Amino acid sequence: MTVKTAQSEKLFNSAKLLFPGGVNSPVRAFGSVGGTPRFMVKGDGPYMWDADENQYIDFCCSWGPLILGHNFTAVKDAIVEAVSNGASFGTPTVQENKLGQLIIDNNRFIDRIRFVSSGTEAVMSALRLARGYTGRSKVVKFEGCYHGHVDSLMVKAGSGLATLGTSSSNGIPKPFAEETIVLNLNDSEGLKQCFSEYGNDIAAVIIEPIPANNGLLLQDKSFLTELRGVCSDNNSLLIFDEVISGFRVGFEGAAGYYGIAPDIITYGKIIGGGMPVGAYGAKKEIMDKVSPLGDVYQAGTLSGNPVAMAAGYAQLSECVKEGFYDDQRCRTEGFVSQINSFADEKGLDFKMFSVGSIFWFSFSKDEKVQRAEQINEEGVKYFNIFFHELLANGIYIGPSAYEVGFVSKVHNPEVLDKAVEIICAALLKTYKK
Ligand code: PLP
Repeated sequence: MTVKTAQSEKLFNSAKLLFPGGVNSPVRAFGSVGGTPRFMVKGDGPYMWDADENQYIDFCCSWGPLILGHNFTAVKDAIVEAVSNGASFGTPTVQENKLGQLIIDNNRFIDRIRFVSSGTEAVMSALRLARGYTGRSKVVKFEGCYHGHVDSLMVKAGSGLATLGTSSSNGIPKPFAEETIVLNLNDSEGLKQCFSEYGNDIAAVIIEPIPANNGLLLQDKSFLTELRGVCSDNNSLLIFDEVISGFRVGFEGAAGYYGIAPDIITYGKIIGGGMPVGAYGAKKEIMDKVSPLGDVYQAGTLSGNPVAMAAGYAQLSECVKEGFYDDQRCRTEGFVSQINSFADEKGLDFKMFSVGSIFWFSFSKDEKVQRAEQINEEGVKYFNIFFHELLANGIYIGPSAYEVGFVSKVHNPEVLDKAVEIICAALLKTYKK
């Protein structure tokens, strides 16, 4: 099948003269899969259309935020109503109160929240708060977790088990990276060793409790529980970065899913209904350290923007309804199990993982993939063929083997059945069976 891409190609060529690599966020450039990034012009329900009028079932969902799909009426109406009263005031607004109240009333783990404008900003602010609260400077993170482009977290492990990090991007001063200790996921020994060496200096441990930026590396609950215990024993704070899992695996995110109480939680994506919003929240005692009450400074010109707050409120008002997350999970499990059965039947080295309405295509048969280094690198080769097969046949997923996909409320059984058909055909072509 020949795919029409002339308009996207033309737009991408213009964009390359405007933005580094033609994009405003790197993965969009199709760097690892090759080919032309599609310029989208419209989204509606589970579908979106590109500049060449190709239609796609969208499983990227703007990298997670669109849990109700595109153009959901209540969200669109809320945005239109809010913006018609003014786009921004730089003062408190009622929309902030409404969204804050909805979240706090339905989340056992936080009783104060601060809105910011992105997930990165939420994480950066949460780290400062943890350091301000504990008076310590070191932070522990895990290989394979992504927390936005925060200086001290753009860090990979040096050599040795519990080691001070080395930066994974140019432009980060060495001393920043050295404040970060990088451990392996699901590794209880490494955790113990790290705390016995640096325990008194560790302000916080930050983890994606459902790591979903490097495949879907589902952790043993026992590891997360141990992490909680070790942090408490050492007076270090536990930060759950729930920018993806928050409002995705349940209204209370992974904290609720596992029944583990972190000290600080960061949010992004779904919380803004498709508009740029992030947030961090904690118990009152910790949040009282944040300015203007406390001495940990954090601010934002567009923080709590009324249009974004209205979008978030409309979206979360749907999510909080009885049965919303069970329905999300059931449809996703049905979708995933059909594809897994097909791959089994055909003897393909392939398995789909899922939790809630997050899924990931793994190009190996391994039953458990819990650490970044366990991902079959050979699989990337298969992914790239698979990705272009999907694109050519009307399915859009994130353009990288390490990205997860998302099912929204409007990916109904009919849409999912169609997707199963396309995905199974693409798998056969990928494996040339
Ligand atoms: N934390 C996690 C777990 C994320 O997945 C992301 C982005 O994908 C971020 C933080 C950064 O969020 P943003 O891209 O909104 O800055």
